[in-house]
Amino acid sequence: MEDVVIAGAGPNGLMLACELALAGVRPLVLERLSEPTTENRANGLVGQVVRLLDRRGLHERLAGPLGPPVPAFVFGAMRLDLTLTDPNPLTILGVPQRRVEAMLNERAAELGVEVRRGHELTGLSQDADAVTLDVTGPDGPSRITARYLVGADGGRSVTRKLAGIGFPGVTEDRTLSYTANATVPAEFTDPASGGLRVPGHGVIPPFFHYRTETGLFVYAPFPAGTLVTTMEWTDEEETGDEPPMTLDEQRASIRRVLGFDLPLGPPEGDGPHLLRRLRGRNTRLADRFREGRVLLVGDAAHVHSAIGGPGLNLGLQDAAGLGWKLAATVRGWAPAGLLDTYESERRPVAERVVMQTQAQSALVSPGSDVTALRELFGELLRLPSTVQHIADLMSGADVRYEPATDHPLDGRWAPDLVLADGTRLAELTTTARPLLLDFTGSLGDELRGWTDRVDLVTGSAKGDVTALLLRPDGYVAWASSAVEPDRKALRTALERWFGTPVDM
Ligand SMILES: Cc1cc2nc3c(=O)[nH]c(=O)nc-3n(C[C@H](O)[C@H](O)[C@H](O)COP(=O)(O)OP(=O)(O)OC[C@H]3O[C@@H](n4cnc5c(N)ncnc54)[C@H](O)[C@@H]3O)c2cc1C
Repeated sequence: MEDVVIAGAGPNGLMLACELALAGVRPLVLERLSEPTTENRANGLVGQVVRLLDRRGLHERLAGPLGPPVPAFVFGAMRLDLTLTDPNPLTILGVPQRRVEAMLNERAAELGVEVRRGHELTGLSQDADAVTLDVTGPDGPSRITARYLVGADGGRSVTRKLAGIGFPGVTEDRTLSYTANATVPAEFTDPASGGLRVPGHGVIPPFFHYRTETGLFVYAPFPAGTLVTTMEWTDEEETGDEPPMTLDEQRASIRRVLGFDLPLGPPEGDGPHLLRRLRGRNTRLADRFREGRVLLVGDAAHVHSAIGGPGLNLGLQDAAGLGWKLAATVRGWAPAGLLDTYESERRPVAERVVMQTQAQSALVSPGSDVTALRELFGELLRLPSTVQHIADLMSGADVRYEPATDHPLDGRWAPDLVLADGTRLAELTTTARPLLLDFTGSLGDELRGWTDRVDLVTGSAKGDVTALLLRPDGYVAWASSAVEPDRKALRTALERWFGTPVDM
């Protein structure tokens, strides 16, 4: 019997596989496609997820060392001046999803994870001891039993449907978005800002979501090729037999949105080049993330507009949140109820993403009442506290899991501590082991009974934290700023998250 089967080798399934493997459980990954997809969706990662990748040594593989937060971003096609924030929580990693998936595939292979391509989950049943999966592969149908199944099989998740988990929400079909790789004549580009000079609109900044009364326009000059995107609202019914999208269609849409005929040229290089027409938007949230021995991560659990790029911030952190708890359950040391905290922690985070993407979608929609709302919102965005609130929401820096003490770090993403010898916290967390950072040098004894599960780090670091217990997903399980930390509270936290101590 397999310990854990993951259905889906998209970014979130692969990340979960890596997290489980780091925690000592080697999952089997089933993937319907026989080759990695060439379709590209995300063009970048936004928010805490960038720090999560750094804490696994994965940022380095994609783009070298972690960069500083960005000075500006967009919310509902309005500029967020992040120089007004302190601290600025918004870090961005501008890499295409294809590359993230390729990197995670490589990492999973290094960790000994088997990804069985061309294998599709088609049926499941479960009892108190196991899940039985029907799988269709290149050699025909087969059956696999597993202690747990995780559905990482995307928005149309078969796992979710077979497990009988509801997916309530809304499907809206009035929006049409067009995205194309294209070239723009040099006379329209603004070398100083990297933006686009459009008669009647001035310079539209690069990567900025630019709203007009008739739609949305984005000019994104990525190093690998320029993307132009428009979004419009339509009352026309979908006929179902629309021809493939063309560059002329993109051009016509730009003409309607900007009132100007931008002479787009074909993209440079070998490709693959994107020409994508998408209709409508689904905003849905699974009514539960677990049904018995079946769990959901990523798009299988939640779908929403891609505005502001929150998808992988949510999904990859789902994977990190679930990985260690599921591994602890499989390995037998999980305290009672640990696996249930996956849903109680992550579903509210998904609810907030659904809320903020719907709010952004409302702010970019057409109409003079929306224009008035934007004017008021623009005034609010001059207030540092508003910008901080929105930046914290978009990055996920406002997430706080249920704390057990009133220490301000308890339940929060651990800060990027740097030890006196220059070691960054991120260098200590690549193995995803729970850590007790003890800057008092006196707490080592308290770990007796947990040393098989929790590693001790001593030394010192700037700031007022004297000790910190870190969960593998990067969140603080307990912290102290006292010269003599409360040992009883530390032991309570150790038991709450890492189970009962073993006799040494
Ligand atoms: C146009 C667009 C732009 C986006 N831009 C961004 C962005 O800039 N930033 C960002 O963070 N997010 C973005 N997103 C969201 C992001 O792409 C998704 O959140 C992400 O792909 C979800 O990953 P996943 O692993 O959960 O699911 P998927 O990527 O959907 O992967 C699911 C996998 O499961 C496989 N599968 C399906 N059914 C089965 C089955 N029955 N058995 C076995 N395998 C199965 C599929 O073949 C697939 O490989 C964007 C999305 C879209 C559509």
